[in-house]
Amino acid sequence: MGANRSASEVRKLAEAPLNFGKGSRACLYCKLVQTYEQFIDNGCGNCVTLNMKGDKDRVSELTTSNYSGMVSLLDGRASWVGKWLRLDTCVPGCYALSLHSSTSIR
Ligand SMILES: [Zn+2]
Repeated sequence: MGANRSASEVRKLAEAPLNFGKGSRACLYCKLVQTYEQFIDNGCGNCVTLNMKGDKDRVSELTTSNYSGMVSLLDGRASWVGKWLRLDTCVPGCYALSLHSSTSIR
């Protein structure tokens, strides 16, 4: 069917640079995925008021490593994914599709 070439192209595109292993965490409020260190260094790009930057306790408390799925958002306003996930006002980055945190947001 001549699908060999397109199949390999698809594979190449699908091979996203996901160096997100154990160390990655998702913000409980906006689902932004970063590594633990990134949350400590930069805080959450959307939830500045949570003051996670430089605060290990708050990062541990307000993010979770227990999430599934991930989308990359380059421009939320131009992306259907951004609209679908209501991320159109969020900073570009990677976002979790769903969180499985046992800690509820109060
Ligand atoms: Zn956030």
